[in-house]
Amino acid sequence: MPNAPEIKVVTHWKGACDGGEGALGHPKVWLTIPRESGEICCPYCGKKFIIDRANAVEDH
Ligand SMILES: [Zn+2]
Repeated sequence: MPNAPEIKVVTHWKGACDGGEGALGHPKVWLTIPRESGEICCPYCGKKFIIDRANAVEDH
């Protein structure tokens, strides 16, 4: 499934995505996960970031 969206579980509400290497690569963008939904999709490559609420780190 070459076009299956990638899912990444993260512990920071803010994260950067550059799409990785190859065809999916794109300029680095910063994403902030909304606390209501707990997940966000990268507008460039569609990679999905999901917060691990149990281990989430608060950013100050
Ligand atoms: Zn991306």
